[in-house]
Amino acid sequence: MSGTRKEFDVIVVGAGVAGIYQIKRLIDLGVDAIVLEGNEDLGGTWFKNRYPGCRFDSESYTYGYSFSEELLNEWHWKERFSSQPENLKYMNYVADKFGLRRFIKCGTSVERMVWNESERNWSLTDQSGDVYTARFVITCMGVLSVPVLPKIKGIDAFKGESFHSFHWPDEPLKLTGRRVGVVGTGATGIQIISEIADKAGELFVFQRNPNWSVPLNNSPISQQEMEGIRQRYDEIFTNCEKSHGGFEHQTDPRRCKHVTREERLELWDKLYDAPGFALLLANFPDTYFEEGPNRELSDYIAERIRKRVHDPKTAEKLIPKDHGFGMKRVPLETRYFEVYNRDNVRLIDLKETPIECVTENGIRTSLQDIDLDVIVYATGFDPAVGALEHINILGTDGTVLRDKWTGSPSTYLGMLTHGFPNLFMVAGPQSVSGSTNYPRAIETGVNWVTDLFAHVREGGNTRVEVQADAEKAWVEEVKTVQEKMPFNKVKSWFTGFNPNVARRDPDQVRYIAYWGGGPRYRKHLQNAVDEGYRDIEIE
Ligand code: NAP
Repeated sequence: MSGTRKEFDVIVVGAGVAGIYQIKRLIDLGVDAIVLEGNEDLGGTWFKNRYPGCRFDSESYTYGYSFSEELLNEWHWKERFSSQPENLKYMNYVADKFGLRRFIKCGTSVERMVWNESERNWSLTDQSGDVYTARFVITCMGVLSVPVLPKIKGIDAFKGESFHSFHWPDEPLKLTGRRVGVVGTGATGIQIISEIADKAGELFVFQRNPNWSVPLNNSPISQQEMEGIRQRYDEIFTNCEKSHGGFEHQTDPRRCKHVTREERLELWDKLYDAPGFALLLANFPDTYFEEGPNRELSDYIAERIRKRVHDPKTAEKLIPKDHGFGMKRVPLETRYFEVYNRDNVRLIDLKETPIECVTENGIRTSLQDIDLDVIVYATGFDPAVGALEHINILGTDGTVLRDKWTGSPSTYLGMLTHGFPNLFMVAGPQSVSGSTNYPRAIETGVNWVTDLFAHVREGGNTRVEVQADAEKAWVEEVKTVQEKMPFNKVKSWFTGFNPNVARRDPDQVRYIAYWGGGPRYRKHLQNAVDEGYRDIEIE
């Protein structure tokens, strides 16, 4: 490691999927750089999310890094959708293989960043008050890395064990014979509930709104299959690059409304049993973009749920009625709906009987007191902007980034923001990091940022700031695209909502991601390069 040194050319913040690749690129260029990581070890999302059932819902071999042929040939993904412990092992393997660990300083949480105009550098203060300086800062802090607890009265009164899913305890949590409550039924809640239902004494699921969830259809990957995947890696990454969402799934070329009901059912039966996001991404495109076809597909999925849940009343409660399939992030599940056929599991419908408060002994709804030993809050994150707004970032003239972004964030290509020179954001808001297969998106981001950095350095320059007009134009593009998306009217983290984040207007649509897809996004990035970075002031 870089010992006790505190001055660097570049500081990368965050040693997750993006930060690890970013430091690799910088080290390869011979840059004097370090990663500051708040957690006790590297891995980011795969270090923190240790709850039971946590795994990829992207195909593992589309999630891994693509930059090293040697790495691709060495690593054996054991499952099509690999689990958290294995994913963390992978991250550590990559860091060790490329000798990156010595450039990562863990246990160093950046709390404040101040731009010094005269020095043309950033000062970063960590939780102990130690100050680091660097000419350039590259943030790699993920999209979903700031957990949010619900605003429920009495949440601190509970005497049992309670925690957000992001803070699932390291030591094995005893579930046998205990009464466990899970609040929240997003992708996280659904993974946890499915995994612990047969382990907890009794399980109470506190559901406010149900989500359209479809089977993950996971399976092991044998040595022989892995060999086949290795042969296909070029094709796999090309397919991902060509697709809107960064996956291998190809949209069906037909239109739902142009084929017979039998042909629709034939495709949907096939996709319901296919791995990953097939039902969302390999479907007829009008099932996503048009109301009628979307309703018909949603009705089909509702029927599948009714067949899987024995009690018809419970089944109805698990079927969303206020939005269509795909209009919120689709959680992928493994025998989730069957959980509700178990005698030890109860669904508490918070639409019928809302939570009034948390008590010393459990959760009080408008109907009853439910005594619990453990409460898990799977209540989501402050998406895309959370990690950046969590740090006090002061740009030119002392402008605070959080204040600049009141209402909705504003960036150029999701990478730069006016008034904050020499700050590059990989996985920043209004990039495709939150809207497409994450590692595919961050490799694009890291490469673009690194090329810009190299260009600046080669020119002997020391200051980079995007022009305000160019940023405005990008925000317009982001808005125009999002406003055409059918999910824009639905409140979820896709549209920037988390009612538990105190500083947000709970009714305002926000523009936190770019929904134009990977190919269109990369075209914008390439244009910026081809035009000689004319939107960016480089001095
Ligand atoms: P989420 O999708 O934001 O879901 C939060 C859940 O908490 C919702 O069901 C929400 O209900 C509920 N909730 C919030 N406040 C509540 C309150 N006061 N009372 C009762 N319920 C409340 O969060 P998440 O499940 O953690 O997922 C976030 C994202 O992480 C996913 O969309 C996905 O992108 C990612 N993720 C990925 C994987 C993977 O497989 N790779 C796994 C997990 C998560 P309402 O809907 O009623 O607001």
